[in-house]
Amino acid sequence: MSYANDFRVKAGSKVNLAKIDADYHGGFDNEDSTLAELNNYCQRLTELQALMYAENKNSLLVVLQAMDGGGKDGTIRHVMGALNPQGCTVAGFKVPTAEELAHDYLWRIHKLTPGKGHITVFNRSHYEDVLVVRVHNLVPKEVWSKRYNEINGFERELTNSGTTVVKFFLHIDKEEQLRRFRDRLDEPGKQWKISDSDYTEREYWDDYHQAYMEAISKCSFNYAPWYIIPANHKWFRNLAVSQILVETLEGLKMKYPDPSVDLAVIKQKYHAEVAEESGLAAVELMAEEEPKKKKGKKKGKKKKKKK
Ligand code: AMP
Ligand code: MG
Repeated sequence: MSYANDFRVKAGSKVNLAKIDADYHGGFDNEDSTLAELNNYCQRLTELQALMYAENKNSLLVVLQAMDGGGKDGTIRHVMGALNPQGCTVAGFKVPTAEELAHDYLWRIHKLTPGKGHITVFNRSHYEDVLVVRVHNLVPKEVWSKRYNEINGFERELTNSGTTVVKFFLHIDKEEQLRRFRDRLDEPGKQWKISDSDYTEREYWDDYHQAYMEAISKCSFNYAPWYIIPANHKWFRNLAVSQILVETLEGLKMKYPDPSVDLAVIKQKYHAEVAEESGLAAVELMAEEEPKKKKGKKKGKKKKKKK
């Protein structure tokens, strides 16, 4: 089962969110039945991140978008929790500051994209500039309507420079959103999240969906795909996102760099006991070095003769 195949939005296709079941949970009945698999993916993520960091060639940008209460924070906690903080950054984008508004909308975004070997997770992103901005007419249509192409160009440039871009829309339905808001009322640890605007924004649900559908349809490509994740069930969401991230990173065919030193020499110089354990006395090692070099030279000569 590849959730990457199931949930990837094919380039050029037209998304209809009304037809995508937010309640879908694969072959799983409950959270417990997903835990072993989730744990495997998270362990694999840990390994792949270490590899990416060591190789220092690729980087990964994960974009998380959702309606309010859609589970961006929870996904970061559960899935990205598997990552070593040393190589991972989470960047959240709120209402732009005066300084940010004085620049082009990609200015604050580009600064926070990951460098080589690093993973960055965007909690909201440049897509807000064709979502909330469009829904609330924060700039005229002639401005936001040009942004799809601009975003595609920006993401193309990132991928050309070695950054893999994956984008997740965590898809919950309107009833689930209200359930989640209601749950917050009874949980002291979540009450701080409650805002009036979460409720008033519900009036714009259809407008947001319209804006999401257009953004996702226009900006999903093989090089920077959108995935629509059924997210009413938090445990299924975590499973799907983690599997897709593993598949994405495995697709990079990363390799640990070769050691920059001669390990045999290091063992002999600083770890005499290891050299002895492997049955090689220091003197033997040095004696072995010479014939190897000569053999190498001979091979090279032979090849030239063949030509
Ligand atoms: P939260 O993620 O709940 O902390 O809320 C952040 C708020 O910032 C949301 O209401 C977003 O819609 C808003 N926001 C993020 N980016 C932009 C933007 N470019 N323009 C206007 N509002 C934004
Ligand atoms: Mg909020």
